[in-house]
Amino acid sequence: MLEGQVVANYGRRYEVELDSGKLISCVMRGKKGGVACGDRVFITPSGTEQGAIERIAPRASLLYRSDTFHTKIIAANVTQIIIVAAAVPSFYEELLNRCLAAAEANNIKALIVLNKCDLSEESKQALNNLQLYRDLGYEVLQLSAKQDISPLKPYLKGHTSVLVGQSGMGKSSIINALLPEARVVTAEISEALDSGRHTTTHTRLYHLDEQSQIIDSPGLQEFGLHHLSPTEIDHAFIEFRPYLGHCKFNNCLHISEPGCALLEALEKCEISKRRISAYHKLIHAGHSRL
Ligand code: GDP
Ligand code: ZN
Repeated sequence: MLEGQVVANYGRRYEVELDSGKLISCVMRGKKGGVACGDRVFITPSGTEQGAIERIAPRASLLYRSDTFHTKIIAANVTQIIIVAAAVPSFYEELLNRCLAAAEANNIKALIVLNKCDLSEESKQALNNLQLYRDLGYEVLQLSAKQDISPLKPYLKGHTSVLVGQSGMGKSSIINALLPEARVVTAEISEALDSGRHTTTHTRLYHLDEQSQIIDSPGLQEFGLHHLSPTEIDHAFIEFRPYLGHCKFNNCLHISEPGCALLEALEKCEISKRRISAYHKLIHAGHSRL
């Protein structure tokens, strides 16, 4: 068996890059799906350019995209989530919090990028809003993908990063600015091979250098948290952690329960109202398993 990494996903076909750099178009043996871009896999080749994935190596992390009905794996072994925000159009703080929670729940580093900082007047307020997250310990990088992508590069070193953010924030611009240097490892797979299931949104992994890669998942706006329980979600709000386990009821959802340690901390302004509201929205919006 040969070992490699899944670098692209086209419907039921997976492009696997062997350690030698060779690309093999694979299907999953047996069960459907379950493999994601970024996965390390073991394959048996059938011919020179095709093969079957036999086994997936244990994953360091696994990110999902989900709506009310479906949960789909989008990427495996990601080590950094880069949340792209911008002043214009204004970004949704809820989405930012959801992405941060997804990162924490997966033990993945989160980086907030405020893009379009060339629009300096507009960016001031956005930067003010992001101060809360800086105070929590998250790094906020000011960037203008249009003018200069280089401030982002040191943050990508040694990581498998994935970009996320609502549309219009500049994700494509960031990828395009980075890609002239990237080695594009995906080859076009013909429609015939793809069994006519050609879709336009493909997740792809690009090598930036020997240690750094970036996963581009077009259309990816957020990570689903449907698979998390409220207790997993409250732990994903890092500043809540010291208070958890100190509520009167051990199944406290921190909504209006008496003796809630988190609500008491809110009263004392030890935690921010914006963050507790974001947590409430998450558990109420069906983004978690209640
Ligand atoms: P995406 O939907 O997140 O992929 O966003 P795009 O990369 O398509 O960018 C949305 C719009 O923002 C486009 O009109 C870009 O030209 C513009 N844009 C992207 N980055 C910057 C930037 O750094 N500064 C300014 N002023 N505009 C930008
Ligand atoms: Zn509580």
